This record gives sequence, structure tokens and C-alpha cells, in this order.
Amino acid sequence: MSDFPGVLRVGDLEVAVSVSDRRKSVRLTVERDASVTAVVPPQISTAELAKLVEAKRSWLYGKLAEKRELGEAPPDKQFVTGEGFRYLGRSYRLRIVPAGEVRLVRGRLELPEGGGAKELVGWYRRVGRPWLTRRIRPWAARMGVELTGLRVRPLGYRWGSCSRDGQVNIHWATMQLPPSLIDYVLVHELAHLKRPDHGAEFWRVVEQALPGHEEYRERLRRTGDDLWLPEEGR
Ligand SMILES: [Zn+2]
Repeated sequence: MSDFPGVLRVGDLEVAVSVSDRRKSVRLTVERDASVTAVVPPQISTAELAKLVEAKRSWLYGKLAEKRELGEAPPDKQFVTGEGFRYLGRSYRLRIVPAGEVRLVRGRLELPEGGGAKELVGWYRRVGRPWLTRRIRPWAARMGVELTGLRVRPLGYRWGSCSRDGQVNIHWATMQLPPSLIDYVLVHELAHLKRPDHGAEFWRVVEQALPGHEEYRERLRRTGDDLWLPEEGR
């Protein structure tokens, strides 16, 4: 298969192609890191593969959105009066003030002059910790999970993580979501304290705590793409 480049471009998709003598058909995979690979049989041509990728485009995009979870291209923000920032699912306008610290006052998010992403991320973390701690406790009690602590911090493109000793970590960006979706994130992590994997038993635990969890999951996937996630906060 000498006519295959290592990478095939179809529109804005990049597909890493490898050839296998054992394959009778093309296997397209979206990897965990959101790259796309194709393992192809030797007799297929570049044009045929391109056509196939083209036909599978919307499926590929769906899969890619899933892998990204928190989204890759959050809208750029400017740190000027009037810019909107989300908090608990609502949008608040920024107001630049001469001094002080970031705070939410009468529906306006005050940012001291010269402040930017770092200060705002710090604010989400500061208000997030008590809010999330209060929110998660009743869930933990209902689910019969031993929770030892909660931290709010950057977690890359993950919403949350947990450790075996009962500690739950939640991404600060979660504070931009509406409370109902935050509940899903919390329940998801608490369920991991019972089951570390994403097997059937895990989803049963989630469903029991939050009936109809599939819908939350779907909404989270869609909402996650337009959250603000500056480099300083990843
Ligand atoms: Zn999980």
C-alpha cells in the first residue's frame, strides 16, 4: 500500500492510516486522545478510503465531541466591562472595578482592574469549594458513599476524578454549569467511589441515584463545549 500517506486528510479530519494484511474491511476508531485512526486492508485505494471517511463524517464528529468532553475551543473572553461569564448556569456581566477582589455583587461579577483569567479561575475555585461541598453531602449520604473531602481544581478536560481514600476532585469549570448538571458530575464521581470503572454496575449505581442519567450525560456533552476554559485554568 505504498500510495498511502501516514495521514489522510478528509476535510478538516485527519486520519492516521495503517495497513493490515489481516483486515478485510476498514476499521475506523476515535482514540481516547480524540485522534482518528484507520486500519485498512491492503487492496483499498486512497480515494476509496477518503469516500468512506466522508460517509462516516457525522458519526466521527459525534465521537470526537464525546472524547473531548469539556470541549476544545472555548470562546475567547475579554476582561472588560460587559463581558459575560457563567456561574451556575446563568450569565453574569463583568464590571471592572479599581481595586479589591473578584466577587459577585448584585448580579455583576466584579473584577479588579488589571485582573484576568487567573483571578477569575481563582474566584470559581474559591466559591466552588463551599458550594460543591454543601451540594455533594446529601448525595453521598443517599448513595451510601464515604466521602472524605472535596477539592476544586483544574483537571484538564475531565469534569472530575476521585481517589481510593474517598477524596473527590471537581474541575472548577463545573461551576459554570446549571446545578442539575453539576449534580450529574457529583453523582458520577461518587459512583466511582463504589466502582472505579465504567461497567454496567457503575451505570446502575448512577441510574439509581439519578434516574434518567443518560439525558444529563447528553446535556453535559453539549453544554460542555461552550464553557470557558482558559489555558491558565486547565
Ligand atoms: Zn467516570
